[in-house]
Amino acid sequence: MSEPSPRKLIIAIDGPAGAGKSTIASRLARKLGYINLESGAMYRALALKAIENDLSFDDETVLDRLAHNSRIQLEPTLGGNRVLLDSRDVTQRVRETDVSEAASRVSVHPKVREWMVARQRELGENGGIVMEGRDIGTKVFPDADIKVFLDADPVIREQRRVQQQHLRGASTESMAAELRERDRRDRTRANSPLQPAADAIILDSTSFSEEEVLGRVQAIVEEKLKSSSEARS
Ligand code: C5P
Repeated sequence: MSEPSPRKLIIAIDGPAGAGKSTIASRLARKLGYINLESGAMYRALALKAIENDLSFDDETVLDRLAHNSRIQLEPTLGGNRVLLDSRDVTQRVRETDVSEAASRVSVHPKVREWMVARQRELGENGGIVMEGRDIGTKVFPDADIKVFLDADPVIREQRRVQQQHLRGASTESMAAELRERDRRDRTRANSPLQPAADAIILDSTSFSEEEVLGRVQAIVEEKLKSSSEARS
């Protein structure tokens, strides 16, 4: 008799900016044949629309209405997610500093988060996904099969982010300050603050290479697939 095909898992990767989530999530998804969804890109797309319409990032009602009137799509590609806002490709634009700052501000509002979480659950409900963000293991998929909280020393995260963003022309000081402020906002907001789920595996990537971190996460996935196939047989 042929082996039953392995169950398609929901894998949540959370953590602060610059911890290496995107790279690990996209490489892991590729290895497993899963799709990789960058939940932060959805907050970025909404923030961009708020910028373009000159809306206040502090007005929850207006932003909630904006979200309900928006179509935000994530298309997984080998190099990360392609981001479509009302059918327009905004993949590059949403990575710019003004959008990062605005995304962190619009994401504090409970109604905005509610809308995002509902969309993210629809995207991931069939499994076979690696979703990365800040609240995937705590809120979006509290029953995710695997929850990893990827962290790193703030200085290292700043250095990594500065290296990435230098390519886009941002200055070192502005990048480091922006990352610190986003971190503070993400960790201290009242609704779904950035924190590890009680059952998350915490990985500190400060002194590990990307390869080592990926190897650890893959070992966790293999263990899970093995135990769930044993439970089914
Ligand atoms: O992950 P990324 O840096 O693209 O996220 C941009 C911003 O969106 C974060 O700084 C955070 O404020 C917000 N975010 C969130 N919850 C998520 C993903 C991102 O609040 N699941």
